[in-house]
Amino acid sequence: MPVLISACLVGEACRYDGKSKERSELLDRLADKHLIPVCPEVEGGLTIPRPSAEIRGNKVYRENGEEVSSQFLEGANICRDKGLSENTTLAILKSRSPACGCGQVYDGSFTNNVIAGDGIFTQSLKAAGVECISDEDYIENN
Ligand code: SF4
Repeated sequence: MPVLISACLVGEACRYDGKSKERSELLDRLADKHLIPVCPEVEGGLTIPRPSAEIRGNKVYRENGEEVSSQFLEGANICRDKGLSENTTLAILKSRSPACGCGQVYDGSFTNNVIAGDGIFTQSLKAAGVECISDEDYIENN
């Protein structure tokens, strides 16, 4: 069964800072899986690089106060539908991202403070019944 995965984890330089977050220990464990890499922030029309963003309440803001919730929602929908169209039931997601965070996100204060919660993409996947796990938890448990 195909597995959705945050594109930055497989080496795509799609993060806000223009870099990737490739993790060889994760990719080693997924060597026999059919991976579908997606980046919901880029799919929603945001540029590479781009200002960082954090969730506050259920909205997403840049540090200057600009709201980017609509781009996050659009990208989440596109990537969720891509996964569902390929019958994906599992997603492995970059920890603490405002889109892909799973179980923990930054609190919106831009002070590196982490709280319980999911990114916008992860919320969309869970609502559609897709099992979600962070990269860190997957490595720890596999
Ligand atoms: Fe990686 Fe997800 Fe952020 Fe894209 S939106 S850079 S896939 S964590």
